[in-house]
Amino acid sequence: MVFRLVYGEMILAEGDGGLIRQAARFWSKVQFSPDGCWLWGGSTRPPGYGQFGRGGAGGGMVLAHRQAYIFAHGPIPAGFCVLHRCDNPPCVRLDHLFLGTRGDNMRDASRKGRLNYPRACFGEAHPRTKISSIQVEELRALRKGGATYKSLCHRFSLGKTQVARIVRGESRCRG
Ligand SMILES: [Zn+2]
Repeated sequence: MVFRLVYGEMILAEGDGGLIRQAARFWSKVQFSPDGCWLWGGSTRPPGYGQFGRGGAGGGMVLAHRQAYIFAHGPIPAGFCVLHRCDNPPCVRLDHLFLGTRGDNMRDASRKGRLNYPRACFGEAHPRTKISSIQVEELRALRKGGATYKSLCHRFSLGKTQVARIVRGESRCRG
């Protein structure tokens, strides 16, 4: 049985009863607006992205805008990120979100001036750093969600030591 959760013309979630219950809990934390951003009212993480506890065993925390996209459109294809047209991290409005590659993500962030890290940090400018700060957030979120080191190394093409450092919050300063 497939159910739908809608807001006006927009389908917020589509799936079985379990998914819809989870989605209803998710969308109850959102401040809807007819023509502006829909702001996440739950907990956040820097630089203001919403995070959502999926509940259940090993559910973990996921980024709210990614979860919003998943509820409406299904799983995010491997190698893609969910980006904001509105450049407003806590926004989860579906038509403000779009799929892009990691390259798009970096270009988008750089165009919007979000990648200005102090030179002294081991951040984007450091030649040995292979992944972006956005990916760092994602890596940490995945780890919190129970992803294994092995899967993280594979996903981000990093060595185990590097993954462990990122998870512990070393070798980078926070944007
Ligand atoms: Zn927005």
